[in-house]
Amino acid sequence: MRRLNAFVTWTVFLSALIVCDPARAERFVSCVQEQLTDAGYDPGPIDGLLGRKTTNQLEKLKKEYPTIQDLPNISTANASVYCRAIGLARANKVGWTEDRELIKLVLGNEISPEGVRKLKSVLDDVLEFYGNQLGVNIPGQITIVASADVDEAAKLASNELRAQRAHYKIVKEFTNWCRGYSYCGKSYAGVIAISFSELSGFPITDVRRLLTHELAHEIQAQYVGNFRARGEERQVQARGPKWLTEALAIALENKFIFPDKEADYHVSRFRNRATYKTERLKELYYQTSSGDSDFRDYSSYAGFLLVARSSNKKIIEFWQETPYVGWEKAFSTSFGLSVEEFYKYFGEN
Ligand SMILES: [Zn+2]
Repeated sequence: MRRLNAFVTWTVFLSALIVCDPARAERFVSCVQEQLTDAGYDPGPIDGLLGRKTTNQLEKLKKEYPTIQDLPNISTANASVYCRAIGLARANKVGWTEDRELIKLVLGNEISPEGVRKLKSVLDDVLEFYGNQLGVNIPGQITIVASADVDEAAKLASNELRAQRAHYKIVKEFTNWCRGYSYCGKSYAGVIAISFSELSGFPITDVRRLLTHELAHEIQAQYVGNFRARGEERQVQARGPKWLTEALAIALENKFIFPDKEADYHVSRFRNRATYKTERLKELYYQTSSGDSDFRDYSSYAGFLLVARSSNKKIIEFWQETPYVGWEKAFSTSFGLSVEEFYKYFGEN
């Protein structure tokens, strides 16, 4: 029963992160109310309204969990932070566990049984990497949709998002993004869609890369929030420029694929290849098409430079701090220089 309650809470928690309607604040308040109820408090009806009963009960709950004691008083503006922070404070398990069902797999018909087996083992490894090496606590449920066929993956992801009452008209977007690639993925805050060609066997390294990368985006969304449906501008304000979001996912992906290589190794690998221009990096501020090869190239180099100056763990720290102080401040604290200084550094290195 308890288990069931927890599951309901996490589902609500996650829906709250998929920000796609004007009732955003209400949904985050509801999420806090759900979590209070689940923790044995009585905030009254779960109505999304921030009344006295909710705030009183929240004060009591805060006393119980040291990690949330210092948060400022709750308001509709910071309810999302509470929603996440309570989730983290109360989660006592890291990674993929059967009983919490943190990861739900939705598999298409176009993937072979052998492919499914391999996919699960890759997923175990990736979660081990995030949980044990980086200390990441995945607080909400993530659905991974996988198929060897781009159209099927798109359709399944769409269904999952619709079931969560989230932005779901992604079939065209996903197929445009992924058609023609032997492996490809995209994260939609709560749902990761991946497709890969099984024609020449299961592309295990590619899928390892893909899952590590998309999970990085998911984990960031869980910490920072997802503002995708509210437009690029809002999304960038919350998370930072696109090149940065991509840079950090790529840095983590490479740490997982090449565990023994330090970031310096990757930096030198890139330095030999081309001259990187600051102005071009600045242009990669918003979402770009998958056909823009500079996007991945520049983001990779930027990511390796950042990690070489700090460490992979700083990436997690950066995401954790972002909702409290904004991405620019969190950037300087985590990576040891301001964004403007980094732009300069990027052009010089
Ligand atoms: Zn990405």
